[in-house]
Amino acid sequence: MDFDVIIAGCGPAGAMLAAELRLHGVRVLVLDAETEPASFVRVVGLHIRSIELMAMRGLLDSLLEHGRRRPAGGFFAAIDKPAPTGLDTAHAYLLGIPQPVVVRLLEEHATRLGADVRRGCAVAGFEQDDEGVSVETSNPGERLRARYLVGCDGARSTVRKLLGVGFPGEPSRNETLMGEMEVGVPGAEVAARVAEVRETHKAFSIRPFPGGAHRVVVPVPGHVGDSTQPPTLEEFRRRLIAVAGTDFGVHSPRWLSRFGDATRLAERYRVGRVLLAGDAAHIHPPTGGQGLNLGVQDAFNLGWKLAAQVRGWAPETLLDTYQAERHPVAAEVLDNTRAQMELLSPEPGPRAVRRLLTELMDLDEVNRRLIEKITAIDIRYDFGEGPGPEPLGRRMRDIDVAQGRHLYDLLHHGRGLLLDRTGRLTAAGWSDRVDHLADPDAALDVPCALLRPDGHVAWVGDDQRDLDARLARWFGAPGSRA
Ligand SMILES: Cc1cc2nc3c(=O)[nH]c(=O)nc-3n(C[C@H](O)[C@H](O)[C@H](O)COP(=O)(O)OP(=O)(O)OC[C@H]3O[C@@H](n4cnc5c(N)ncnc54)[C@H](O)[C@@H]3O)c2cc1C
Repeated sequence: MDFDVIIAGCGPAGAMLAAELRLHGVRVLVLDAETEPASFVRVVGLHIRSIELMAMRGLLDSLLEHGRRRPAGGFFAAIDKPAPTGLDTAHAYLLGIPQPVVVRLLEEHATRLGADVRRGCAVAGFEQDDEGVSVETSNPGERLRARYLVGCDGARSTVRKLLGVGFPGEPSRNETLMGEMEVGVPGAEVAARVAEVRETHKAFSIRPFPGGAHRVVVPVPGHVGDSTQPPTLEEFRRRLIAVAGTDFGVHSPRWLSRFGDATRLAERYRVGRVLLAGDAAHIHPPTGGQGLNLGVQDAFNLGWKLAAQVRGWAPETLLDTYQAERHPVAAEVLDNTRAQMELLSPEPGPRAVRRLLTELMDLDEVNRRLIEKITAIDIRYDFGEGPGPEPLGRRMRDIDVAQGRHLYDLLHHGRGLLLDRTGRLTAAGWSDRVDHLADPDAALDVPCALLRPDGHVAWVGDDQRDLDARLARWFGAPGSRA
């Protein structure tokens, strides 16, 4: 076997997955068709849950150096409401950061941990058998062998297509032109006209950017262009005139792009030894800025499980929990983007619903629910045994623990953690996979919690036999590391 895992695609999902696998010593090769990270999506927002993941792996400080903290509120269908106070997180903000920087930092993190990343080399085909997957690359005649292949190769995923996995959903019905350029009229005039147009076209915007350029976003309802072909400045001008009655004298574009609003979800995330993550598994319009976040969180869920499988300590059904947990999360994100797209429609019916929702969002509970949804801090995985006691299945926020440390600092190595306020429990049989912190003062509402490497709560209680059963369920037989 050349590698344990080959990952197709070094976007945010692929790079995150490679790093997670390397934390467990898995031999990883990442192949990316392009020589450079895609620069088309300039700035994305990392929402709270993704920020927490970065903190859990010690990456947050370097991301903060390159990004800008912004308020966490106002993202649901761009309805302008402040975030509610007291969100259950130590990181109640959005991090605005260029997507290529996120990819670069994750890729550097993965290679520092020992991942082999080859750019300018695509996955062109594969065949799987009982022992592994033979991968054909775009280098003529090259075939590589790995135990698993993961398609993190984006919306047009070659891996998904070759796997024959269905990708049902809705095709693109509307497109949006987006670009960075200069405007030829005074800023105040632009702002006034934009405010008028946005009365009906909520998806339209022109915002000044540092350095004199403006980010221009123009919806084109009912039109679907070829999203692989960037628009011309002339097309931008025509669309601006159609929507706003003026082209604002736009000139000197830095970049121009178009994207559609197709919404699709892969029927399966795994077929044998081949898995899918990120945009390869789900696509939806960028409203609310959730796509990259969702993909990075897929990778975080999959990484330790696939590593356990490769290392030989995975309980039998562990890898299947990847689809069981992440497929419903993606279905929920697709639904909330469908709802947001309706709320952005210039038609009178949806505009009336938007006004109503805007009013309802003054109720703290409504605003809070929507923000928790968009930021993915509301997720509670169903472990197939009913809801169980809180916070089972939920993520745990970063809390203060012994010696002035933070919980997330203890998760940098991607291992499980027994957080024990009683001081009389043990995870000794699993000490090669699970750390143990006895801390009577930990800010926990339960006596003890067992955390998975992704920070989700796998067990709460204070009974050793019960704990042993849970350790075996998530971390395999004691002392069984291959
Ligand atoms: C306008 C716009 C704004 C957005 N804003 C946000 C936002 O604010 N927040 C957010 O969370 N998301 C946002 N998104 C979505 C986000 O950009 C995507 O969800 C994200 O890039 C998906 O990451 P990925 O790693 O799954 O796939 P990609 O980023 O598409 O990466 C896939 C990689 O696979 C490579 N590849 C393709 N085929 C092959 C092959 N056969 N072999 C090897 N490599 C291959 C590609 O070169 C690429 O590097 C936005 C999207 C758009 C269009």
